[in-house]
Amino acid sequence: MSTSTPRPRDAVATIPAYVPGKPPIARAGQHVYKLSSNENPYPPLPGVLEAVAGAAATMNRYPDMGCSALYAALSERLGVAPDQFAAGTGSVAVLYHLLQAYCGPGDEVVHAWRSFEAYPIAITVAGATAVPVPLADGGRHDLEAMAAAVTDRTRVVIVCTPNNPTGPSVSASDLAAFVAKVPPHVLVVVDEAYREFVREADPVDGVALVAGYPNVVAMRTFAKAYGLAGLRVGYLVGSPEIAAAVRACSLPFGVSSIAQAAVIASLGAEPELLDRVEQIVSERDRVVASLRDQGWAVPDPQGNFLWFDTGARTAQFTASAEEAGIMVRPFADEGIRVSIGEREANDRLVSVAARWRADSGQ
Ligand SMILES: *Cc1c(COP(=O)(O)O)cnc(C)c1O
Repeated sequence: MSTSTPRPRDAVATIPAYVPGKPPIARAGQHVYKLSSNENPYPPLPGVLEAVAGAAATMNRYPDMGCSALYAALSERLGVAPDQFAAGTGSVAVLYHLLQAYCGPGDEVVHAWRSFEAYPIAITVAGATAVPVPLADGGRHDLEAMAAAVTDRTRVVIVCTPNNPTGPSVSASDLAAFVAKVPPHVLVVVDEAYREFVREADPVDGVALVAGYPNVVAMRTFAKAYGLAGLRVGYLVGSPEIAAAVRACSLPFGVSSIAQAAVIASLGAEPELLDRVEQIVSERDRVVASLRDQGWAVPDPQGNFLWFDTGARTAQFTASAEEAGIMVRPFADEGIRVSIGEREANDRLVSVAARWRADSGQ
């Protein structure tokens, strides 16, 4: 009898691990806040729980595989034809499907680094090769270097704006100039997971860019501003051809009836959504102003999170934050990403940061 066992593809051994934000560690007498996953601190928007309960009553049935009501609602909201959408269980899933559709072994995918940790994972899973391009000063995309990194093997370029985990966004004019430089057969993914929080003067609108450039797709999610992280739904907007290719690679019935209903209800609660986003943005601005007063050089935060350049002392800062009852997302020996959360949580962050500077004599 042979002793050999089933062997995964060689690429599987090289898939980097995804490090999820730590859950709150319960402590006696202290509420612990989770600021480690860029989640929305607010509960579901009005009408959403009711829509979810209604959809739950039909859980013996498969969901609408064509997401027709979801695409119709998005189509109306964004003024884009229903056949230009491809949804998935989070925009990360949509990225997996897109890379599966467009890349194979030997193909290259260019992206900034440090950026969203799911990129190298998804690229490796597809069997393609990640080409990370170092960020420029201030945690910004180096679009010139990214354009220069495009080779004959490049199939996809990902632009993460605002960049997770550092915070800055790309401006619309810089992105347009970049897209004009990329060959038309190379797909440009504009990951706009945090677009609702952007307050920069010349904000990117990936969907508008799709109209002028058929090789561009905008990727968006309901996990952040819309507060539906737990239901897993995101989508892309692209040309009908790209959207069809991505849908063809999607898991059948991936987006649940509950998630579809929640999104449609959430799209109907836009005034409340925008109000919450405004609160988060104003908390972000308040926190970053305090931190800069303390002397921290925080990169321009355009999402619902901040970046601390803690370098070799990342583990110590993380421990101090946990001691104060806030869970953060450390990147070993690089820095720390902290989400904007409840006011009390944000206040604790400001105190931890102040104490840190005092203790380190800076
Ligand atoms: C959170 C996030 C997403 C979306 O994640 P899903 O929960 O899968 O929709 C996509 N891109 C970036 C950069 C993110 O931070």
